[in-house]
Amino acid sequence: MTPKIERFFAENQPDTPCLVVDLDIVAQNYQALCDELPGTEIFYAVKANPAEPVLALLRDLGSYFDAASIYEIEQCLALGITPDRLSFGHTVKKEAHIQRAFDVGIRQFAFDSIQELEKLSRAAPGASVYCRYLTPNGGADWPLSDKFGCHPDNVTDLLCNAADLGLVPSGVSFHVGSQQRNPTAWNTAISTAARIFSSVSDRGIELSLLNLGGGFPSHYRTPMCALPDYTDAVKHSLRHYFGDRSLRVIAEPGRYIPGDAGVIQSEVVLISRKSSNEVKRWVYLDVGKFGGLPEVLDEAIQYRIRTPHDGGATGPVVLAGPTCDEVDVIYDAAGYELPLGLSIGDRVEILSAGAYTASYASVGFNGFPPLKEYYI
Ligand SMILES: *Cc1c(COP(=O)(O)O)cnc(C)c1O
Repeated sequence: MTPKIERFFAENQPDTPCLVVDLDIVAQNYQALCDELPGTEIFYAVKANPAEPVLALLRDLGSYFDAASIYEIEQCLALGITPDRLSFGHTVKKEAHIQRAFDVGIRQFAFDSIQELEKLSRAAPGASVYCRYLTPNGGADWPLSDKFGCHPDNVTDLLCNAADLGLVPSGVSFHVGSQQRNPTAWNTAISTAARIFSSVSDRGIELSLLNLGGGFPSHYRTPMCALPDYTDAVKHSLRHYFGDRSLRVIAEPGRYIPGDAGVIQSEVVLISRKSSNEVKRWVYLDVGKFGGLPEVLDEAIQYRIRTPHDGGATGPVVLAGPTCDEVDVIYDAAGYELPLGLSIGDRVEILSAGAYTASYASVGFNGFPPLKEYYI
């Protein structure tokens, strides 16, 4: 919670649920990454929070952007972000969308299979491509370890295939998993990259691009290491495995940039017990899995929650969302406690909710409108 957001709530008493994002914090987080990773180009992962004020701010600060779809690309272009500042980082794309991206000037694409390379060679001839490989995602609260990336042993052949198909094999990428708790998680992936660079070089191709992906954390219930712990570990691995070899290093932070900048305010709709001797209260909020908190799926992301009664005695709760779907439970097994003084009608705040919330909200399940957003 920042003073600016606090003031906004006090002065505006907005209808709930709503997300309020302090753009000063977005800028600070972007700047911190630039400062801690000098020489690394920051490609903001648009999907984390694609709101126009966030994109426009990062545009003005000089950021690059990693887009997951043609729609994100077109959104960035409409904001005056030039195609040379954009990459198409999804490894699974319709050929028609590759073509549209190529036609508007996008020249940097991700892939992880020969089938995708064939599409790229037809729809984006001569473009620069980088290969994503699998890396262990241990320590990540929101892993990305199975769906995208090929086995590292396949990368060398694929990059050679890319050259044979008339594409420019520029380098490699990986993702250590989102909300990565372990600052040294990048080490294994960077050592793999160095091995790939050298085996591709043995085949006569010099790579230049190393894409570190995302994974930098926001602050939820479990305390996290500070950003410099992460960036120092990354810089150490880069020095260790690449020495002073000239290299274009890019990172694709998503969550880190807007995550801590946002707060969702929600109203308590009901507090009840399933039986009179039950200690555990059910607390129903007006926001849930479908209204902007999909990352509570399997209770993976555990937000910090602020109430007007903090400091008072607490008791165990099941936190649930407002829709009539049985799966719309926020936390049960995670063992949340909330103040016994909490009442129906109280406003509570879900902290560090600036990433992967509003853009994920359903369009109208049960008639509930999408999460309202304010960028201040
Ligand atoms: C989602 C995504 C990111 C951002 O990940 P965070 O964990 O939010 O930093 C970066 N790169 C790619 C390819 C992604 O899909």
